[in-house]
Amino acid sequence: MHVKSAEFLVSNTDLDKCPRPDKPEYAFIGRSNVGKSSLINMLVSRHGLAKTSGTPGKTQLVNHFLINKEWYLVDLPGYGFAQVGKGTRAGFARMIDGYLTTRPNLLCTFVLIDGRIIPQKIDLDFITRLGEQGIPFVLVFTKTEKLKSGGLQNIQDRYKVALQEMGWDEIPQMFLSSASSRAGQKELLDFIEPLNQAFEPPKLPGDRPF
Ligand code: GDP
Repeated sequence: MHVKSAEFLVSNTDLDKCPRPDKPEYAFIGRSNVGKSSLINMLVSRHGLAKTSGTPGKTQLVNHFLINKEWYLVDLPGYGFAQVGKGTRAGFARMIDGYLTTRPNLLCTFVLIDGRIIPQKIDLDFITRLGEQGIPFVLVFTKTEKLKSGGLQNIQDRYKVALQEMGWDEIPQMFLSSASSRAGQKELLDFIEPLNQAFEPPKLPGDRPF
């Protein structure tokens, strides 16, 4: 897929204010500082579309972008940042869960994981929640230009083992990416394209019955 247009639509904490779910949608989420904004900008080749920042937890909203006038890219708040209080963190977790479980057009969630570090409980817990709720997702390892080829294999193997130990029979699909080297851009866009083509808009209240 070639990205011809990418535009910011809306940023909100109120799920009712998200765009009408009549286009295929993909969500991006991960720990604060995982490289999510950089990955989104790299993916759609638009420098500065998603805000990159060194301040963990700054992106605390559900941000909708419209890509090629055809699909929605959603930038979700980073999870697990320590700088905000427990109550605020629980509020975000509820909002993220509410979003992930209610958007009828959400075809896949891209869970971003720092490729340079060993599996972390916070990421495994989040993956477990997705699995328990039957939310389709894939794993995207970020910053992988920092790893040699053996390291790239290692990180994938470590996650496979960790998930198997947690009782997963089916291991989620994994992608390797780097905003610096642009690795993974083609693979991720090629993954999205057939899902877009197979998308059938959900029946929504207020739609005409023909
Ligand atoms: P976010 O908080 O998850 O949106 O992360 P950002 O995109 O703001 O990036 C967080 C930090 O990671 C910044 O210092 C980036 O420069 C750095 N970063 C992001 N992507 C990459 C990458 O592909 N490779 C490396 N080495 N650093 C990256």
